[in-house]
Amino acid sequence: MVRSILWRLIGCLCFWWSLGLALFFISFGVNRIEKAVQNSANPERILSNQRPDRNTDAEFQDSVQTMENTGMGQSAAVQVSENSSIRAEKTITAKVALTFDDGPHPVYTPQLLDGLNERGVHATFFVVGKNILGNEALLKRMETEGHLIGNHTYSHVKLSELDIARACAEVEKTNALICEVTGKEPEFIRPPFGEWKKAMECSFEMIPVLWDVDPLDWTTKNTALVVERVLKDTKPGDIILLHDYYQSSVDAALGIVDALTERGYKFVTVDELILE
Ligand SMILES: [Zn+2]
Repeated sequence: MVRSILWRLIGCLCFWWSLGLALFFISFGVNRIEKAVQNSANPERILSNQRPDRNTDAEFQDSVQTMENTGMGQSAAVQVSENSSIRAEKTITAKVALTFDDGPHPVYTPQLLDGLNERGVHATFFVVGKNILGNEALLKRMETEGHLIGNHTYSHVKLSELDIARACAEVEKTNALICEVTGKEPEFIRPPFGEWKKAMECSFEMIPVLWDVDPLDWTTKNTALVVERVLKDTKPGDIILLHDYYQSSVDAALGIVDALTERGYKFVTVDELILE
């Protein structure tokens, strides 16, 4: 009698223990499936896992708002609307554009071109007209190696402080020099100091290109600091401003390429970001 009760008790305990174990595994499995579905439905979540400090919706919208509020000009506005409309695609591919102002420089620009070439990366160079003289071969090299060449005025002037005729001449003279070497008329201009004369009635139309990330490389000349600032501030769709006029900037640029490539970024020329 006692034996039979004991067996029944053991049988009962085994049943409830097995049931509990089965329920635990079922709930664990359902949880895993839910997580997998959430991740596949939201690729940005995967990207933000890699970069926990950036790339949230709120931050992206904040940066858009900041650019609009600070009146960063026509190109920024174009870029903002383009970014918004194709945002999903960009967060997956995480495109970013490296831009270099003030060159070409006879020593630093070739170093930079070598480094970019080794890494298969294309950048955009906004060249100063008077720096082209004597460095025509470098300009040609930029063109043949797939980089985009833009205008940065002839003598690095604040266009907004010049009368229309002089401002147009600064831009036109540089366009002519670039065209002479590359055979292509530049479409993009980076106005020095970000000062674009909006109502320029010149014989040509150009697309002004400003920037999103400015590590102030020309003031610090500190490679590690420049890399750190860019890595901290860059998010998908950004245009990064650097200068191929200092050794520290060239070293920083190549460090930035390596680090952002590691994070899944793809480097494109600015036309791909703005006109896409
Ligand atoms: Zn400049």
